[in-house]
Amino acid sequence: MDCLFCKIVSGEIPSTKVYEDETVFAFKDIEPQAPVHILIIPKKHITSAADITAENSSVVAHIFEVAAKIAKQEKLDDGFRIVTNCGDSAGQSVKHLHFHLMGGREFTWPAG
Ligand code: AMP
Ligand code: ZN
Repeated sequence: MDCLFCKIVSGEIPSTKVYEDETVFAFKDIEPQAPVHILIIPKKHITSAADITAENSSVVAHIFEVAAKIAKQEKLDDGFRIVTNCGDSAGQSVKHLHFHLMGGREFTWPAG
């Protein structure tokens, strides 16, 4: 499958790895929107949040455990934001499920 993030998981495309285990990979966003901007993804391809099912949802829970761990490592004690863009109108540019973990600055709400 011609998927950018599958290629990052396999190492075919280089990335700055922050965390890896059996099911999850995390790396620095190439165009950071905050002092800390890390993408956390399932290693196994899931296209978007719209494709989460009873069969594959356990990796999402694990991603949030990993996010909390990374947030502590990055000392984001004041707060952080986790975002997933789903589909074109939300601005999803890479069609492999990913969670943006962003911190180190103030955020506004609602986003966009
Ligand atoms: P989204 O627009 O929500 O689909 O997020 C995709 C994110 O992937 C954007 O924030 C991009 O900056 C980021 N991105 C695209 N290509 C790379 C890459 N090769 N390495 C790291 N991050 C990337
Ligand atoms: Zn993929």
